[in-house]
Amino acid sequence: MGFQSMAHRIYRCQVQSIKWVGVDPKAMTAILRFKPQVPFEFEAGQFVSLQVPDKDNPREMLWRAYSMSVPVEIAKKHGYELCIRKMNGGQAAAYLDRLKPGDWINVKASYGEFTLRTKPGRGVCFIGTGTGVAPLRSIALSREFAEMDLLFGIAILGYRTFEEVPYAGDFERVGLATTYAISDSTAKLDFPFYNGRVTDVLKRLKTDFPWRETDYYLCGNGFMIRDVIQMLKTSHGVKDEHIIAEAFAPAAKTSEAA
Ligand SMILES: Cc1cc2nc3c(=O)[nH]c(=O)nc-3n(C[C@H](O)[C@H](O)[C@H](O)COP(=O)(O)OP(=O)(O)OC[C@H]3O[C@@H](n4cnc5c(N)ncnc54)[C@H](O)[C@@H]3O)c2cc1C
Repeated sequence: MGFQSMAHRIYRCQVQSIKWVGVDPKAMTAILRFKPQVPFEFEAGQFVSLQVPDKDNPREMLWRAYSMSVPVEIAKKHGYELCIRKMNGGQAAAYLDRLKPGDWINVKASYGEFTLRTKPGRGVCFIGTGTGVAPLRSIALSREFAEMDLLFGIAILGYRTFEEVPYAGDFERVGLATTYAISDSTAKLDFPFYNGRVTDVLKRLKTDFPWRETDYYLCGNGFMIRDVIQMLKTSHGVKDEHIIAEAFAPAAKTSEAA
């Protein structure tokens, strides 16, 4: 069952701010902060659905999935937050260009099973590419995560360029050893920035890395997720139950509001 077909409440929310991250006009990311009229609950790692007018037929409404980038306790205090990559020619992209503080948006909440499920005493490895950082950040900053008895925690975050990194420093602040994989090979970088892809960083982990005592939380584009899962399973014998993944797949064109 697709997420659009489940009945969820629609919340009217007021935009507080839109901050843009990046320098390349074709690869910008919006940090959209908003306040619902009635606060809603969600679990760290879950996503919401944002109503977007169809740019070719403004009377028709579309829905797009976006992960919360803060946990609920921060959202209620400082604002709910989404981290949205502007897709070239995209419907949501066109809407974001027009949005300004004070505007009202409609959000359906909450969806998804990309949530914390690690048992005490295990390690966690967060792997995200692009805006796949959003649900990982929501989990990492949550009270639930802070209270966990972890063996260790690491994060590997992949971007094309250094300038595209949103939320730099946030994972380190909660004790996660973080590496940024920057795929632009012309960038001159020092640790914790690494020239390559997230799979290259994984390949360079020490041979005694506790592969099977670790839970892997993967989020971002489907190709990265496929490659990482294959590596974890075939090279390191990681079992399915220790891999939690969410691919940011494009939406099927739908105006269904459920
Ligand atoms: C569970 C879930 C959570 C998500 N969370 C986030 C999030 O936190 N942040 C975020 O930026 N995105 C997220 N997405 C992706 C998001 O829902 C949209 O697909 C994306 O923002 C593009 O919407 P659009 O209306 O601008 O583009 P559209 O008008 O839908 O598409 C424009 C063009 O871009 C292509 N396209 C659309 N999406 C993608 C994609 N993901 N990869 C490659 N090509 C694509 C389309 O095929 C089309 O050619 C999530 C998706 C899912 C399923």
